[in-house]
Amino acid sequence: MTKRFNLFVLFMAVLLGAPYYWLLLDNRPGAAEAKPVTMAQLRELAAAMPGNAPDRVELEIVAYRRLPGNLFVAGAGMKRKLVGVMAWQLPVDGGKAVVIDSGLSEPAATEMGMEAYDRQAQARINTAMERAGTTLITHEHMDHEGGLVALGKPEVLARARLNANQIEDNRWTEMLPWPQGARPQPSLAGSEPVAVAPGVVVIPAPSHTPGSQMIFVRLSDGREFLFAGDIATFAQNWRETRARSRLVGDWFAPEVRGEVFAWLRTIKAWKEQAPGLMIVPGHDFEFMISTERPTGIVRGFSPPAD
Ligand SMILES: [Zn+2]
Repeated sequence: MTKRFNLFVLFMAVLLGAPYYWLLLDNRPGAAEAKPVTMAQLRELAAAMPGNAPDRVELEIVAYRRLPGNLFVAGAGMKRKLVGVMAWQLPVDGGKAVVIDSGLSEPAATEMGMEAYDRQAQARINTAMERAGTTLITHEHMDHEGGLVALGKPEVLARARLNANQIEDNRWTEMLPWPQGARPQPSLAGSEPVAVAPGVVVIPAPSHTPGSQMIFVRLSDGREFLFAGDIATFAQNWRETRARSRLVGDWFAPEVRGEVFAWLRTIKAWKEQAPGLMIVPGHDFEFMISTERPTGIVRGFSPPAD
């Protein structure tokens, strides 16, 4: 009887444990190798365009939800993590700011099950996009590109620098409510990093989505930031080389996992080449506002100068 019972327990453990391991914990990076791009190249590009680089990084949080850590950091545990939806403004002394990511509309927040939505914060992001020299998007998901598309202003869309995968029809851009006739033309192309403004470099990194890119910024005072988008949703992703769970990455929001791992290793390599580089994860609000380990990111967009 006991033996039978033990066998039953073992059977149940395997029956339930195997899918649990595969879907939520499995974190084997496989053979993915870091990309050949170096910090020296990124710095050279950041210095390539004449003019003032941005002087600081500001943050707005529009919405948040709390979800089990394992979903976004495979093997991190089931304890819930705060997943913030954020946008960043990089003011430029004597010039126009760069905005990175755009928040999302209130209906989109409801659809995504956000626990809270801050209309004023989204209004500040919208104003920032209207005044900005350019808006960049880390990838074509609703909680990053949605604010820009929902704002729907042709002049803002015309100044945004987007790549083809962030615009053309695919399973993600279908969810973006493009205004009639206002879908912009792509103005970023190719697979090599490219300077888009003084101190600002876009690094194409198709992986989490086809249009995923990271943004390297070297501020006028020399501080360096890397906006990782959802290649590293949390700091733990790149620090521990952990991708998101297969449950999310294979099923709910399919990504090319091997490429995500390759970029996570690339981020690690850059951090070794430039220990002061601040990696800005896609949704890790608590990391960004930490007082224990300050990131240098300022909470709240400064109002337009004029
Ligand atoms: Zn995201």
